[in-house]
Amino acid sequence: MSTFLREEEGPTWQQLLEEGKTCLSDAGVTESGLDAWYLLEASFGIDQVHFLMDRTRRVNRQRLEKSYPVYRDYLEKRASRIPIQHILGNQEFMGLEFTVDENVLIPRQDTEKLVETVLRDHKNQALSVLDMCTGSGCIAVSLAVLGGYDKVTAADISKAALKVAKKNVRRHFLVQKGTARSESTLISDTPWKLKMCTYVYQGGDAQEQETAGESVSDNGYSPGIARIPGVRKKEFVLLESDLFLNLEQDEKFDIIVSNPPYIPSAVIDGLEPEVKDHEPRMALDGAEDGLYFYRILVQQSGRYLKEGGFIYFEIGCDQAEAVGKLLTAAGFGEIETIKDEPGLDRVVRACRNR
Ligand code: GLN
Repeated sequence: MSTFLREEEGPTWQQLLEEGKTCLSDAGVTESGLDAWYLLEASFGIDQVHFLMDRTRRVNRQRLEKSYPVYRDYLEKRASRIPIQHILGNQEFMGLEFTVDENVLIPRQDTEKLVETVLRDHKNQALSVLDMCTGSGCIAVSLAVLGGYDKVTAADISKAALKVAKKNVRRHFLVQKGTARSESTLISDTPWKLKMCTYVYQGGDAQEQETAGESVSDNGYSPGIARIPGVRKKEFVLLESDLFLNLEQDEKFDIIVSNPPYIPSAVIDGLEPEVKDHEPRMALDGAEDGLYFYRILVQQSGRYLKEGGFIYFEIGCDQAEAVGKLLTAAGFGEIETIKDEPGLDRVVRACRNR
């Protein structure tokens, strides 16, 4: 523990950062410098410009007394290998900030490839999307906000994860650009099902909206608003469900996406402490060969996909062939494997044949 608070002459900003860096690298944190900076930034509320200008200045005593204990607390947590995202409560994904905690997998940059591939393939907004195993909701929310799809359903077995996803839906979907009005309706408590709608002003005239489909129809909650020219209704549903268990039997989607748990059980214990000790195992563990969830999803998704609908999986970099085979055996076509930025197989896409 540093003695900065007891010293007559307090530390400079640079010394504070160095202290954090040493503390974290001693604990085996790889990005110790970067993480120390983020924790300093968050605890003292200093930005990079001011840090660079003032780095050799001593930190004001009052400010030190107020923020230094917070900084130390953050450093100790990080040194015990708690992920920085759990300490700060946030992770950026697809240019949006997502709330995270220990109940959800922290959004990975790799997963952006999954979202990007769906956005690449589907420019039409009049589509319904199902995100199976949504976790923080990062995939579903990004697709709803950036793809503008009319209906997005996000399912997860964990109610605690769905509460996090709900925060992210509120954070980005309910307040997106052009929102004229929004509302939430609890459809059922067991299983937990929450429907959220936004009415987004997109310009254009009423005629155009009419031909775009049912999105302007009145759902009974907001008489009138959906009929205003240029307003388009967008729906987001959060559903507690063990895979497809609680979905409506006759509901069919244009697109199903999923980043299911896919790490072989035996591999998990060899992962970094941040992952194996602090992220939910149920979000990582794909059973013996890692393919457990793909088998069920491939087998059951045909029933919930419209003819000609597409399924997109994030996969482990050595799983493309196995997942492709499962899809072929189940009658899917147009199978494509997409690589991530580092050049590893990351997404498999397939079409439910017409
Ligand atoms: N890509 C994640 C990791 O390597 C795993 C995600 C998953 O199992 N869906 O930690």
